[in-house]
Amino acid sequence: MLESQKNKLLIVDDQKSNLMVLTNILISEYTVYTAKDGIGAIKKAKEYLPDLILLDIIMPGMDGYEVLTTLKEINETKHIPIIFITGLSSPEDEQKGLSYDAADYISKPFNSEIVKLRVRHQIRIVNQLRTIERLTLTDQLTDLPNRRSFDSRISLEWDRAIREKTPISVLIMDLDKFKQYNDAYGHQQGDLLLQSMAGVFKTVFKRSTDFVARWGGEEFLALLAGIGSEEAMQIAEQIRERVEAMQIPCPSTGKLTEITISIGVNTETPLPNSSIVDFIRRADESLYIAKQTGRNKVISEF
Ligand code: GH3
Ligand code: MG
Ligand code: MG
Repeated sequence: MLESQKNKLLIVDDQKSNLMVLTNILISEYTVYTAKDGIGAIKKAKEYLPDLILLDIIMPGMDGYEVLTTLKEINETKHIPIIFITGLSSPEDEQKGLSYDAADYISKPFNSEIVKLRVRHQIRIVNQLRTIERLTLTDQLTDLPNRRSFDSRISLEWDRAIREKTPISVLIMDLDKFKQYNDAYGHQQGDLLLQSMAGVFKTVFKRSTDFVARWGGEEFLALLAGIGSEEAMQIAEQIRERVEAMQIPCPSTGKLTEITISIGVNTETPLPNSSIVDFIRRADESLYIAKQTGRNKVISEF
């Protein structure tokens, strides 16, 4: 397995010998990070975002309970499952550990094979959750983020734009006369066209903060954080041009088909009382004007 595909573990123990033994058991299957105290654990958890943490309880300074509680309060780390691995071995200790929302509890001295299996169980759950998350956030036809994904992204970016007093732009992009296209060339060919839109977007939305999603049907949304109105218009114009230049041969006839897109743009520097719904609605109104006034154009209110 490629190193980059391995799941990541963070092992935390104040005793070097324990860290070494556990690392030896797990290193062939996972990328392993280690920390020897609570502060180091929190720092590395934030830095490496491990898929699972194996956490000792008795440690000088911050104990395991405190580390777990702190990690559960931090947004980036709160979902990381934690297995306590500890010398505290009475049923009361185990009950306490699990009541802290630990995913599992292993008492020392531990059995290497059982540790491996218990880690594997947790990692399987993590990977399954990740698959489910990916599926619920992705549009199956185009592999672009879907509307649900857009909704959570925009609320993050919106709050950031308010905090940082930076502009944010949205593009609503709707293929022109797509119903006619479907009728003329068939639904399957329509699907292919929707898929090829993802390729066009890739050539224009290049910054890591650009976010483009399939909003529904033949409608796509792009969210451009930190982009002002002028640049947003230029980017939208590039999309419009590239779609117009696309020439897709129809498989049945070989004839080249032409397609165009209309785009409504809105840019705001939101204030704490600004509304996301209004922000999108204004872009939608511009899109409507583009459709009313001949299609294949970019319109912005401002
Ligand atoms: P306008 O220029 O005003 O946007 O006209 P339009 O025909 O593009 O818009 P309209 O809303 O009338 O029709 C949209 C069409 O998109 C109708 C629907 O069959 C088609 N459509 C929606 N989702 C899909 C899909 O997943 N695959 C295919 N092939 N077609 C789809
Ligand atoms: Mg210890
Ligand atoms: Mg349309």
